[in-house]
Amino acid sequence: MTEVISLKPKRQNEDCPICGKSENHNFTPFCSKYCADVDLSKWLKGDYKIPINEEEELNGEPPDAGY
Ligand SMILES: [Zn+2]
Repeated sequence: MTEVISLKPKRQNEDCPICGKSENHNFTPFCSKYCADVDLSKWLKGDYKIPINEEEELNGEPPDAGY
C-alpha cells in the first residue's frame, strides 16, 4: 500500500474530504487516521465507482456478439 495513485483531482483546500476539518499532514489529505480508514473502506466496499472501467470493457467487446 505504498503506492497511492491520485485518481482524484488535486485539492487546493486543505480540508479533510471526509469530515471537512483541517488536514493532518500525517494523514494527508485527511484529518486523522479515522477519516483515512473511512475513505479506504469506501474504496474496498466499492462505494466509489470508476467509470473508466466500463468504457474499457465496452471498447474491448464488439457490439455484435450474438451468433
Ligand atoms: Zn476528517
